[in-house]
Amino acid sequence: MRFQQQAMITSGSGSELDRVVIVDGYVDEPTNLGVPPYVSPYPRYIAGAIWTQSSRTEVLYQTIDDVRRHADPQSQWSNADLILLIAGMIVPGKYLGGTPISVKEAKRFFSDSRLEDIPKILVGPWARFGCGIEGGRLALSSDVLVPPFDYIATGDPEVVTARIMVEDGDVSSVDFSSTRETLEEVEEYAKRGARILTQHPGYSSGHMICEIETYRGCPRYITGGCSFCTEPLYGEPKQRTASDVAKEIEALHEQRVRAFRIGNQADLFTYGSKEIGEEEFPTPYPDAIEELFSKVRRAAPELQVLHIDNVNPGTIARHPQESKEVSKSIIKHHTSGDVAAFGVESVDPEVIRRNNLKATEDQVIEAIRLLNEVGSHRPDWGLPHLLPGINLLYGLPGESKQTLEHNYAFLERLVEESLIVRRINIRQVIGFSGTRLGDMKASKVKRHDFFQHKKQVRETIDVSMIKRVAPSGTVIHSVFMEQKEGNNFLLRPLGTYPLLCFMPGGLDPRTFIDVFVVDHGPRSLTVLPYPLKVKEVSLAQWKSIPGIGAKRAARMRTVKSFANLAQIEMNLETQLPSWFTRTLRFED
Ligand code: SF4
Repeated sequence: MRFQQQAMITSGSGSELDRVVIVDGYVDEPTNLGVPPYVSPYPRYIAGAIWTQSSRTEVLYQTIDDVRRHADPQSQWSNADLILLIAGMIVPGKYLGGTPISVKEAKRFFSDSRLEDIPKILVGPWARFGCGIEGGRLALSSDVLVPPFDYIATGDPEVVTARIMVEDGDVSSVDFSSTRETLEEVEEYAKRGARILTQHPGYSSGHMICEIETYRGCPRYITGGCSFCTEPLYGEPKQRTASDVAKEIEALHEQRVRAFRIGNQADLFTYGSKEIGEEEFPTPYPDAIEELFSKVRRAAPELQVLHIDNVNPGTIARHPQESKEVSKSIIKHHTSGDVAAFGVESVDPEVIRRNNLKATEDQVIEAIRLLNEVGSHRPDWGLPHLLPGINLLYGLPGESKQTLEHNYAFLERLVEESLIVRRINIRQVIGFSGTRLGDMKASKVKRHDFFQHKKQVRETIDVSMIKRVAPSGTVIHSVFMEQKEGNNFLLRPLGTYPLLCFMPGGLDPRTFIDVFVVDHGPRSLTVLPYPLKVKEVSLAQWKSIPGIGAKRAARMRTVKSFANLAQIEMNLETQLPSWFTRTLRFED
């Protein structure tokens, strides 16, 4: 049966495959995010691998949300020669921009009888590490997806795809565990695959940000890395050159991509370090970061967003001087509102010891202080340049009720010291086979205690922090309306850890708009359009301004027009704060 299928594919396509379908079920790995508006490198590299081998092969790229919207997606796939599903939640969270594929969906969508004769291959983190479903549970073996999938590609998706293309679609000759021998291998794919983005649902609106890889693997693989993490499984990190990264960005920029996150690596501060492969905490090499960011800027002169992601706080604490230089270089070239995500995981000494975590509480505090010193300044009324973010992870071996107390006391310390972190991410770990976590005893913390702890952080620490990050009057540029909830709009800017903005109903913001902050929730902001055209302010918008209330807001709506601030204040019988009055515009 398999032989006939392969014969059909080969003879049907001459020496090449005619049509390949790539379904993006989305990924969220420790160093790689691919849930919209983020696009991970996977679909870009895979499409590039196809077009490098055969420029005439037609590639249909769909996200899982496209698939769900389609009444009969299989009808579009039934004349394909090959179907690839990219999937993999390794660090699952909640997403506003899209919903990752579930195992049930992967079975349902790909089990259709019309697809029976088409080789279907599962690629990405689910294939490599197993299917992570939710935090606090062990990952399922990817075998649960065979069938409907015929092959599980435990190797690198773009390398496996390139091999299939070279073999003219004869999948029986392909080693599905093939991995990159060098990083140069992907460079051609990275450039050629850029045009797949024209098929992404965010392409026409520009609501899209590309995750960019600079290196793979974690320098801490030397000591095994953190117990739960899949990154050390890649072995010694392999780095791309700054010129290659810039060439990829140039190709993406030519396709009108304007937002980039240099986020696909374990620790950006160690990019280019000569000690990678020798030291667990390599000394940062500021010249390499300067070269990388200046080349990226030159490659994408019209970029609107240039952000970063993971930084190891242990690197900063051990190498403060070099880390300061690196931060300055990033700030020189990036766009503000940037976040360096610190994978703290836990500050409980027992949990740190048992899981080989990267930094003690004091080291993390030192790293936050340093980054606040260099990065917390802001452009006029804008967001701070570069803030740390904190990732906490629960369910780790050695964890006890005291862990919750340790972590909470650490967060209180940040508030008391007037430090700023952009956000505190609280997640539950997934056990993947191959990591040491799989063999270790689980946490003793009860579910109820975990959720209470999370609630406490949200209600106390988060509120103080968000007011520091975006005080009233802060202007946030180019936010995009992602959803409408009742009479409210939900908007976010493109970027790393974008702030969630609620805007009370008024004129429909169909595209990107500028807003300013009027109020704060624990993890979100209430915003109004910036500048605020007095004539267009709705009742709900007047009401959202602290201190105005329902009665005064109603009074504002009865007046046809205001010529100046004095008239508004007279009508409200109150003086408005200067952060608010500076946003008002009276002209038509
Ligand atoms: S420092 Fe730990 S969590 Fe971060 S990439 Fe390395 S092993 Fe993974």
